[in-house]
Amino acid sequence: MQAPERPSSARLVLPHAGDPDSQRRTPEWKWQLARAVRSARELGEHLALSDAERAGAERAEREGFPLAITPYYLSLVDGSDPRCPIRRQVVPHVAERETTRGDLVDPLGEVAHEVAPDLVQRYPDRALVLATDRCAVYCRFCTRSRMVGGGSGTRSVEHLSAAFEWLAGHPEVRDVIVSGGDPLTLATDRLVAVIERLRQIESIETIRLATRVPVVLPHRITAELLSALAPFHPLWVMTHFNHPKELTPLARAGLERLANAGFPVMNQSVLLRGVNDDAAVLAELFRGLTRCRARPYYLLQADPAKGTGHLRTPIGAGIAIMEQLWGRLSGIALPKLVVDTPGGFGKVPIGPDYVIERRPGVTRFRTPRGVEVEYFDPAAE
Ligand SMILES: *Cc1c(COP(=O)(O)O)cnc(C)c1O
Repeated sequence: MQAPERPSSARLVLPHAGDPDSQRRTPEWKWQLARAVRSARELGEHLALSDAERAGAERAEREGFPLAITPYYLSLVDGSDPRCPIRRQVVPHVAERETTRGDLVDPLGEVAHEVAPDLVQRYPDRALVLATDRCAVYCRFCTRSRMVGGGSGTRSVEHLSAAFEWLAGHPEVRDVIVSGGDPLTLATDRLVAVIERLRQIESIETIRLATRVPVVLPHRITAELLSALAPFHPLWVMTHFNHPKELTPLARAGLERLANAGFPVMNQSVLLRGVNDDAAVLAELFRGLTRCRARPYYLLQADPAKGTGHLRTPIGAGIAIMEQLWGRLSGIALPKLVVDTPGGFGKVPIGPDYVIERRPGVTRFRTPRGVEVEYFDPAAE
């Protein structure tokens, strides 16, 4: 297995070289976080930036939603191709300052649905904990760009105590999603403290870790992390691969380790203009994920987060792609296309309509093979 090249100027002295602990090599994932590219100047040293990208990067550095790219993820960018699908996801563009019709600062109405500090509830049986506002990489289409990267970083267990109390008082919540920011950027003991506290609430059945770390920092999926989390199963991992180029040998090995350690892995892709709005690209991605035992779960219409109009597709584009994939891709490799409705009213499935006609007792379908067939309801009793 060949590790991707590190960008050359990233070959620097390891951080913490003077630690008393320096005998023990700094784990690669911490090195990656410490060396993440965070300024327009550094980014310009790695890539020949267009004027629009340079202006975007300078703006990101100055105001609002920051820039960060791990050396690993940056190494996947094709420096000679301005349309590179990895590049479009993480290199800021000056178009981020534009507002498109329908754009919202908080597209999923999370502030309005916050039931305790950093606890969002939009469904009766599920809730979302924002365990940190930091990510390894800041995706330019982020639905939570209003809050990530800007604030106080990791939320301590004390800070989250009101959230835990709320959950303990609401036993109807059986499924808790730990998100952020990216919970896998937390130190292992911090993450374990949060999960351990959640596990003390008996009404919580499943816990999900919503993370892009398997994509942008697969080195984080260490044996140490997996054995620290293993006592808290059922723990599901919701990851976020968007393009087959992201399924590198390192990323595939990370998925393999998660699956071997008993984590069901579900993937949520976001449909993005110029990145993956193509049936062949998505088919390759979904097949690749399935081979790694990561189930393509959702293909999400991009949320109308402010300044993301240049990365979004019309609703019809996703439906047309699903039409091309349905019946041609194994059911276990085909995600549901969903729109997370603006305002936070929940996700709705969309897709091609196979029902041509409905009469009393008879439904007429078109099939993926182009044949029309009728289904007769049973006689009423
Ligand atoms: C998407 C989401 C969920 C979970 O949705 P599922 O369809 O169960 O995967 C829960 N809470 C919030 C706030 C969400 O955004």
